[in-house]
Amino acid sequence: MSVLDDKKISFIGAGNMAQALISGLVACGVKPSNITAADPNADVREQLSAKGLQTVDPTADATKAVVDADVVVLAVKPQVMKAVVSGFKDVLDKQLIVSVAAGLSTDIIADMLGGYQTIVRAMPNTPSMIQMGATGLYATDDISSEQKDLAEAVMAASGLVMWVNDEEHMHAVTAVSGSAPAYMFYFIESMVDGAVALGLDKQQASALAMQTMLGAATMSLQSDDSPAELRRKVTSPNGTTQAAIESMQANDIGRQIAEAMTACYQRSQALS
Ligand code: NAD
Repeated sequence: MSVLDDKKISFIGAGNMAQALISGLVACGVKPSNITAADPNADVREQLSAKGLQTVDPTADATKAVVDADVVVLAVKPQVMKAVVSGFKDVLDKQLIVSVAAGLSTDIIADMLGGYQTIVRAMPNTPSMIQMGATGLYATDDISSEQKDLAEAVMAASGLVMWVNDEEHMHAVTAVSGSAPAYMFYFIESMVDGAVALGLDKQQASALAMQTMLGAATMSLQSDDSPAELRRKVTSPNGTTQAAIESMQANDIGRQIAEAMTACYQRSQALS
């Protein structure tokens, strides 16, 4: 028994993020026939309808995907959001809106929806595509605990979810998880370059660096020790790891990472 049982979930925009979320929902047991995808792209509609989803061409009837839905996930690009929702905002009465659009605040979305307030904002990241996402969620005061459970279940189908109580914290979520897969890719890239410079071939170096990132993340998730404690435990005095960590500390890598995250946070504020 899940809060999603028999709920009708509609996606407005069925691109990369929507398809990632849809895969997660289907993997969690949501019936494809309870999911509707509205997208003007006929190829996208054809692919999804072959998987058993209902599909709608929003250019023919924008309201069709929305009228009977319990949850409407807004998954179009932020720059077209206003035009897209203007096609159906007048039929909203009880639907829970979940917006995954980066940078659009709940106030802005409510304004685009003509004052409709039943909105949860989500900031997922790209590993949602493999059900390994990390998503920040924020709800306005108009959202009931049942609606929060529903929004959480939709997003949790693709990974971890974490609520924030202050909408400003969605910028921090962007800095620590929304944009952060790219930092991890950058770290892996740099490790691979470093290993190649030390004589390994690229394929060996990539496999070892990626598995190490995965292993370290999994270990820190499973361990009761903090990441700092885990680091101390593998750093023997005068050993090889200590030489590497001391080199990173001499270059103040920790401060540089914090500065990069502040730059991300400020950019997110400026774009909203
Ligand atoms: P995308 O371009 O893959 O998908 C957008 C889809 O919207 C396309 O399939 C397009 O055909 C469709 N569309 C255009 N006009 C439409 C209309 N009138 N009605 C319905 N659909 C319409 O983009 P995406 O990467 O899936 O991003 C979607 C949203 O998710 C964006 O707002 C983005 O900020 C947010 N987001 C994406 C990521 C990510 O990693 N991709 C992460 C966080 C948030």
